[in-house]
Amino acid sequence: MKILVINAGSSSLKYQLIDMETEKVLAKGGCERIGIQGGKLTHKANGETFVIEKELPNHTEAITLVLQQLVDKKAGVIKSMDEIDAVGHRVVASGETFTKTTLITDENMKELEKLSELAPLHNPAAILGINACRAIMPNKKMAMVFDTSFHATMPDYAYMYAIDYDDYKKYKVRRYGFHGTSHKFVSGEAAKYLKKKPEELKIITCHLGNGSSISAVKGGKCIDTSMGFTPLAGVPMGTRSGDIDCAAVEFLCRKKGMDMAEGNTYLNKKCGMLGISGVSSDFRDLAAARDEGNDRARLALEMFEYSCKKYIGAYMAALGGLDCIVFTAGVGENDVGVRAAILKDLDGLGIKLDPKKNSFKNDGSIHEISADDSKVRILVIPTNEELVIARETAALL
Ligand code: ADP
Repeated sequence: MKILVINAGSSSLKYQLIDMETEKVLAKGGCERIGIQGGKLTHKANGETFVIEKELPNHTEAITLVLQQLVDKKAGVIKSMDEIDAVGHRVVASGETFTKTTLITDENMKELEKLSELAPLHNPAAILGINACRAIMPNKKMAMVFDTSFHATMPDYAYMYAIDYDDYKKYKVRRYGFHGTSHKFVSGEAAKYLKKKPEELKIITCHLGNGSSISAVKGGKCIDTSMGFTPLAGVPMGTRSGDIDCAAVEFLCRKKGMDMAEGNTYLNKKCGMLGISGVSSDFRDLAAARDEGNDRARLALEMFEYSCKKYIGAYMAALGGLDCIVFTAGVGENDVGVRAAILKDLDGLGIKLDPKKNSFKNDGSIHEISADDSKVRILVIPTNEELVIARETAALL
């Protein structure tokens, strides 16, 4: 069985064609600048990289170009589109409407459209991608795989905000969580690595990238997560503030003459690591600036590390113990210094890093970085959200 995974953004689109028998990626790539001048496709297959510069006025044109590459004589990996058994689409927000991977039908699309206001930056783009695929491949089975599904198991006391209950019922304002496919994947891989059943384990998964979230996973199920109603909540991120007192937001809006929508954009795009450091949202740039003596870069990094440490402490209490911490995503997989700082001085909680193991060279495989006498095992596991989407799609069929 071959599954095409599509992750559509508003002006970009990433894809992978995966053979489910071997879980091997046959081809992958991405389109950039859809709907903007200077469209471009980068396609990797057969050990080569193919770059096509072509205007891509909309998602339908972009997906048409992707499919042409997949069946192309040189760049292609399949003879015809019939070899694609199904398409799995990444969708960020499911609200309370969909709690698991769902078959795409006219009816479900109507429901999905109603959810756009929950993730205005992400869901409309996914809908564009889905509609484009359906227009080109009307008879192909397709699934929507949500970032939020893995968090659907949170208990009500963890996902509720303490607002007027009627407002929760009416507007569905609550914690949903994001990066669910990543938390699901790495917690599953951790269980395999530890040779334990997921049911036996209490795990904290730290997905630390441009956007970051931390989850508490008990018995294979998510019981809490740091992101909230939107991906703005939790630890500070590249350009997002993370947790902040709402009253401070109202105060800032008033002082800076911003309306609430502008305030939201400010918190999403101009804050976090970028806002604090004034240097960059990229952790490599921040470390370089700090090492050159930039004190605001130091502050940004220390705020991030401290926030992650606090979530780990909180989730140890929520889980009632801890067997394993997992680091994943760009920062989690690569940043030796950030991992060390987050876990510093946690020996009293049974968490002890081996500095030598922590400075491994990233080769894309799982690395254990805990000291031999650490009660809690510490793992670095490369995430693979596309594989989860493909697996979920295959399972649904
Ligand atoms: P996204 O949320 O966009 O998917 P990623 O998971 O790709 O983000 O993470 C991007 C972040 O990872 C960037 O801040 C980048 O600096 C950081 N990163 C990537 N490689 C390294 C590295 N070798 N050392 C430190 N940070 C890294």
